[in-house]
Amino acid sequence: MGISQMGLLRSSCSALCHGPRAASVLRPSAVLTRQISMDTQNLVARLNSSGLLRSQCLIGGKWTEAYDGKTIPVHNPATGDVLVNVPCMGGQETNDAISVAYEAFLSWSKLTAAERSKRLRKWYDLLMANKEELGQIITLEQGKPLKEAIGEVNYGAAFIEFSAEEAKRIYGDIIPSPLADRRLLVLKQPVGVVGAITPWNFPLAMITRKVGPALACGCTVVIKPSELTPLTALAAAELALQAGIPPGAVNVVFGNAPEIGDALLASRQVRKITFTGSTAVGKKLMAGAAQTVKKVSLELGGNAPCIIFDDADLEVAVRGALGTKFRNSGQTCVCANRILVQEGIYEKFAIAFSQAVQSMQVGEGFTEGVVQGPLINEAAVQKVESFVKDAVSKGAKVLLGGKRHSLGMTFYEPTVIGDIKNEMLIARNEVFGPVAPLLRFKTEEEAIRIANDTDAGLAAYVFTENVQRMWRVSEALEYGLVGVNEGLVSTEVAPFGGVKESGLGREGSKYGMDEFLEMKYVCLGNMSSS
Ligand code: NAP
Repeated sequence: MGISQMGLLRSSCSALCHGPRAASVLRPSAVLTRQISMDTQNLVARLNSSGLLRSQCLIGGKWTEAYDGKTIPVHNPATGDVLVNVPCMGGQETNDAISVAYEAFLSWSKLTAAERSKRLRKWYDLLMANKEELGQIITLEQGKPLKEAIGEVNYGAAFIEFSAEEAKRIYGDIIPSPLADRRLLVLKQPVGVVGAITPWNFPLAMITRKVGPALACGCTVVIKPSELTPLTALAAAELALQAGIPPGAVNVVFGNAPEIGDALLASRQVRKITFTGSTAVGKKLMAGAAQTVKKVSLELGGNAPCIIFDDADLEVAVRGALGTKFRNSGQTCVCANRILVQEGIYEKFAIAFSQAVQSMQVGEGFTEGVVQGPLINEAAVQKVESFVKDAVSKGAKVLLGGKRHSLGMTFYEPTVIGDIKNEMLIARNEVFGPVAPLLRFKTEEEAIRIANDTDAGLAAYVFTENVQRMWRVSEALEYGLVGVNEGLVSTEVAPFGGVKESGLGREGSKYGMDEFLEMKYVCLGNMSSS
């Protein structure tokens, strides 16, 4: 299948699903030899022999095909190679995954926190011991440069390590009673079975950020990774099994996303939906969760402003803006989507920033020195193209790039566009690609007004050397995360999440644990000592 077909069919699983596997024992290597280039073939063969390249879903500790045998291809976005065919599951398999997760919950939630902690720690150790292989799988199916992919493994694994530690600190409370014969307690208990739906841009970290705290609290999970990047999820699940996380505690299903989503939403056994992805799908899930009044946390899209004031350190600002804009080729929810530059520094910044962008090497993620990989699929490139076209037609000026890369496929030139207005499509929506739009502003008030003029509220960045301004602007920005003189702010120890339409709840840090806990008030009566 060509890359263009891939992109256009991306949201239609039924169109992508193939008929039953020729033989249910068809192994990845058998598929691969016929369909992929030699380099990829060698790498996949190595990964295959490591046991981490799984090509079946995981239900109740068993590697499982779709019940009707249908499959879906996983592609390398840099080459278009079909890496492997994986099951295309739907509602039936999801219901079974929920049932086994519920069974497993009854015992996993009864383990001591110390025991859960030990197994999570073991999972962390295994993720770190296999970080090269996991990084290679991420690069193969997602496209990001290998160094960045290994960085994701470090970042993703850190959520498991943190959760292992935090498992032992899920404290309740004792409240002084207003009545002498009563004792008032607050217990923190796991919410139950969790449905965790995740996107393709961080195929490991978006899973561990949810599953780590869920397991630490005593919950069990049904993970639904993106059909575009299921292999990383399967490799992580294989390591979870090896770490002694019991069968059924971690399940992975994917394929027909709406059908799987509907099964998770309809089930009374699923007590929590945790979702990372687009705002449109997040809203649907939130509405669907109302059927059974589930707990919901949502990590949705952003429209991050990156404000560069006249008094910023130019070098720090260029480095910070570059980091936040071009990580993962611009495909992150916290990527700077609008770079607001004060008029006094605008020209200098535009020149220095464009020079820095020009020096970035584009290419396949396994090539030494490459820092910009391909976009995830053809639909993503078409979206970027349409936003650039709209901006240029309304008076914006391309300072660098502005078109598909000569490498072809889904590579796009790292791009800088000046004279952007906040009304343009590119400033109203996530571009999710390697395009940096520059907007000019005059005053601090104007910058804050433009920055907040959006329904999104995930990340924002400020570059200034003025300490009072750092405080003033950070407080005025309607965002869940603010980076001051820093473009990379994500860490497992700090709360990550958005306000407004960027989501509900927080992931990471001690606050992220609460998303998987219920509070129970217990009143002990007849407690007078006489
Ligand atoms: P998406 O289209 O919303 O997909 C996210 C997940 O939802 C995928 O697993 C997808 O499955 C699944 N899905 C789609 N329709 C569904 C339905 N009706 N029911 C249940 N599940 C459904 O988002 P994406 O394009 O993959 O990811 C990019 C978006 O994620 C961007 O907006 C980005 O900002 C956001 N994001 C947010 C954060 C954050 O922390 N706030 C972090 C990363 C990304 P399939 O892929 O199999 O269709």
